[in-house]
Amino acid sequence: MGKEEYLSVSDALKTVLDAIQVLPAVPTNLLDGLHRVLAEPIVAQHDLPPFANSSMDGFAIRAQDVLRATKDNPAKLKVIADIAAGQSPQISIITGSAARITTGAPMPDGADSVIPVEDTDERWQDRSRPLPDSIQIYRAVRPGAYVRLPGEDIQAADQVLSPGCVLRPQELGLIASLGYKKVSVIGRAKVGILATGNELVDIAQPLGPGQIRNSNSYTQAAQVLACDAEPVILGVANDSEDSVRERLQLAIDKGVNLIISSAGVSVGAYDVVKSVLEFDGNILFWRVRMRPGKPLTFGFYRGVPYLGLPGNPVSAMVSFDRFARPAILKMSGYKQLERQPLTVIIEDEIQSDGRESYLRAVVTREGGQYRARIFEGQGSHMLSSLVGANALVKVPENVEYVGEGSFLEAIMIDWPETVF
Ligand code: AMP
Ligand code: MG
Repeated sequence: MGKEEYLSVSDALKTVLDAIQVLPAVPTNLLDGLHRVLAEPIVAQHDLPPFANSSMDGFAIRAQDVLRATKDNPAKLKVIADIAAGQSPQISIITGSAARITTGAPMPDGADSVIPVEDTDERWQDRSRPLPDSIQIYRAVRPGAYVRLPGEDIQAADQVLSPGCVLRPQELGLIASLGYKKVSVIGRAKVGILATGNELVDIAQPLGPGQIRNSNSYTQAAQVLACDAEPVILGVANDSEDSVRERLQLAIDKGVNLIISSAGVSVGAYDVVKSVLEFDGNILFWRVRMRPGKPLTFGFYRGVPYLGLPGNPVSAMVSFDRFARPAILKMSGYKQLERQPLTVIIEDEIQSDGRESYLRAVVTREGGQYRARIFEGQGSHMLSSLVGANALVKVPENVEYVGEGSFLEAIMIDWPETVF
């Protein structure tokens, strides 16, 4: 096997992404569209606001009736109606009259502006306020003051959202305000998660000699959920081709869009994942110049994209983040597939082996700069070293030493101030 069989991280990622197709669009209930990618244009069926309405609690008036009004010389208007939000006023404001109006209530005919209640003699602090016969106005307003015009936000037939847009709470609210109950979004990826290894037992089992618990399936299922995709746990296969095939049949039966396995991809005698893929599918690459995570297989199993991650928990998690996450995001229709790196100042010197390396670190912000403290224990079996880390500091390929105070890129796996 020549050196060329080791791909660089960026070539490997490109190979993965080129092979991944965006999933078809599906209609979904509005709220289930959160964080999904819109697959249709959203066009307004009507104006927003749909009608002229007041932006204040106050009195709907004609601006010309209060031209010279001041606190000492108030204008006096007759109150002829009380218009609450949700009503449809049947009256007309003529010179010398006003209607009490609440925020969001339709403007009556004849009125061109609203005077806020605070600028009148109404006792607006009182909870129960009977409609006064007349009202004193303490200041002038310009025509149109405190009136929200129809179509001011959105006009009928406007395309308000385009396909490809990621639906956040505000986009969902906008779609709701236009009266859509369902939206078409790119489907949610189903990701099969397989653990392999004779030594693995499920989390609730007692540990026998030589056994460890299957933690990778939980880390990975959580990582899949964090991508807004659906994990399908395929359980644990032991290190035999038949056992791996049996579990993979489950993935095919469940119609997963991507299979992720951990372990069994090195060159040990029991590393059977590669042989299964060679036989029932094809392998595009199986080694990457990366640390942690050198043994990393990508190919297809019976037509389904397959990422075989290394078994060591840290390697598995880091290589998921670098490869599986962008693949899932691409399937889900996202355009931004990779995390945006930050430039950080390195607080500890780093020795590296020339592979592109991802070191666990804590990044903090001090005086407008980001500083990275590199964790000491970087053993790829030590999951505890990811607990407390919020970033992976990237040491580029062919770099073997980085001095304290140097600048490197860090990939934030989360931000200090947010949960994810
Ligand atoms: P392998 O790739 O099979 O050589 O596994 C590498 C290391 O990862 C071994 O120490 C395994 O015991 C460990 N490992 C493999 N699968 C898991 C898993 N699902 N959960 C936790 N550790 C694992
Ligand atoms: Mg193994």
